[in-house]
Amino acid sequence: MTRFAGKVALVSGGARGLGANHARALVAQGAQVVIGDLLDQEGKALVEELGPAARFCHLDVTSEDGWVAAVEFTEQSFGSLSVLVNNAGIVLLERFMDTEPAAFRQQLDVNLVGMFLGIRAAAPALRRAGGGSVVNVSSIAGLAGLPGFAGYSASKWGVRGLTKTAAIELGGSGIRINSVHPGFIRTPMTAEAPLPPEAVGYQPIPRFGEMDEVTSVVLFLASEEASYVTGAEYTVDGGATA
Ligand code: NAD
Repeated sequence: MTRFAGKVALVSGGARGLGANHARALVAQGAQVVIGDLLDQEGKALVEELGPAARFCHLDVTSEDGWVAAVEFTEQSFGSLSVLVNNAGIVLLERFMDTEPAAFRQQLDVNLVGMFLGIRAAAPALRRAGGGSVVNVSSIAGLAGLPGFAGYSASKWGVRGLTKTAAIELGGSGIRINSVHPGFIRTPMTAEAPLPPEAVGYQPIPRFGEMDEVTSVVLFLASEEASYVTGAEYTVDGGATA
C-alpha cells in the first residue's frame, strides 16, 4: 500500500503497545519509520521484524538533546521527516491523596513536556520537508477527570492545550497538529494496570478497544486525507465520553 510512500515518520514510544502498532501500520502503508524509545531490546527486535524501512533510535522523550538527536538521526537515515507521532507515555495509578509530588511531576514530564520537546525539535525538519503532521496521543483522561489518574489526567489535559496552541502557531509553516484521545484499549500498559470489564460496560460500545482501532485514526490524521484538519481532537473511546 502506498498511502505513505515517500513519507518519513518518527514514532516516540514505538517499541511496544500502541506505538509499535502505529509503526507497523506506517511501514505496511509505505512509510519509512524511526522508532524512538527507552526500550532498546524491544525497539531493535521490532526493526528487525520490519526490515529496511525501519530504524531504531534510543530516545528519552524528557531529554531535549535526545529529541534533537532523534530528529537528526531520522533525517540522516531517510532524508527527511514529515510525520511525528508523539505517542510515548506513562501512567502511575494512585489515588489523589496518595500521589507523591515526584510521581505527579514525572507524568507531566514524560506525557506533556516530552511532547512539547518533540514538536519543538521536529518543527524545523517538518518545515524542511515542506510541511507535515504531528499526532499527539492524549487520552479520555485528557477530556474528563478519572479517579486514580490525577497526574496522568493533568498531563493529558495539557496535551490538548499544547496541541491547539502549536497548531495555531505552526500552521503557517504547513504543519498540522492534532490530538487523539483513546479510551480503554488493550495494550501492555493496560495489562500492567488491569481494569475490570465493568469499566467499559456502560459505554455505547461496551468493550475494550483494539490497537488497530486507534492506529486507523492516528494514520488518518498523519495522512494527506486530513489535509484540512488541525488543532482538532479525535476521541476513540467506544463512546465513553459521549
Ligand atoms: P505502553 O506502556 O504499552 O507503551 C508506551 C511506550 O512508551 C513504551 O514503549 C515505553 O517504553 C515508552 N516510553 C515511556 N516513557 C518513555 C520515555 N521517557 N521516553 C521514550 N519512550 C518512553 O503504553 P500504550 O498503552 O501503548 O500507550 C501509548 C500511548 O497511548 C500513551 O501515551 C498512553 O498514555 C496513551 N493511551 C493509552 C491508552 C490505553 O488504553 N492503552 C488509553 C489512552 C491513551
